[in-house]
Amino acid sequence: MQGCIFCKIVNGEIPNYTIHEDAHVLAFLDINPHAKGHTVLIPKVHAENLFDLNKELSKDLFLSIEIVMEKIELVLHPDGFNVGWNHGEAGGQEVSHLHIHILPRFENDGGGNVHSIVNNDGGMSVEEVIKLF
Ligand code: AMP
Ligand code: ZN
Repeated sequence: MQGCIFCKIVNGEIPNYTIHEDAHVLAFLDINPHAKGHTVLIPKVHAENLFDLNKELSKDLFLSIEIVMEKIELVLHPDGFNVGWNHGEAGGQEVSHLHIHILPRFENDGGGNVHSIVNNDGGMSVEEVIKLF
């Protein structure tokens, strides 16, 4: 997509530090790493978020998460990982091309976990929320 920084990376218009690539996905080191080996994994086609990606490519993307994690495991020997993505502005997404953050974790690296992203139940109990489904 015109103007998309990650599409430009896919097209070779912006350099990147690739750690994994196949026909459908590209994984490269985050330029502003929050951990040693912080990697972003993207589908090569432009999709703003998971809802915009076709289901077959979603499967490829998920399998690629494991491949990239294994590669990082072999090279950097982390003690753990956090894996996830920011979806939408409220979710903190800045680059509008779906990307999975793969964060290798090391003992005593000072980081938090998924629970540290947000802690606000919106004033609703679990019993109230389940009634909405
Ligand atoms: P998000 O807030 O989930 O949209 O994160 C976007 C991520 O893309 C950030 O962690 C940026 O550091 C990363 N990023 C932006 N431009 C580049 C680039 N040219 N190469 C590698 N990573 C990038
Ligand atoms: Zn794009």
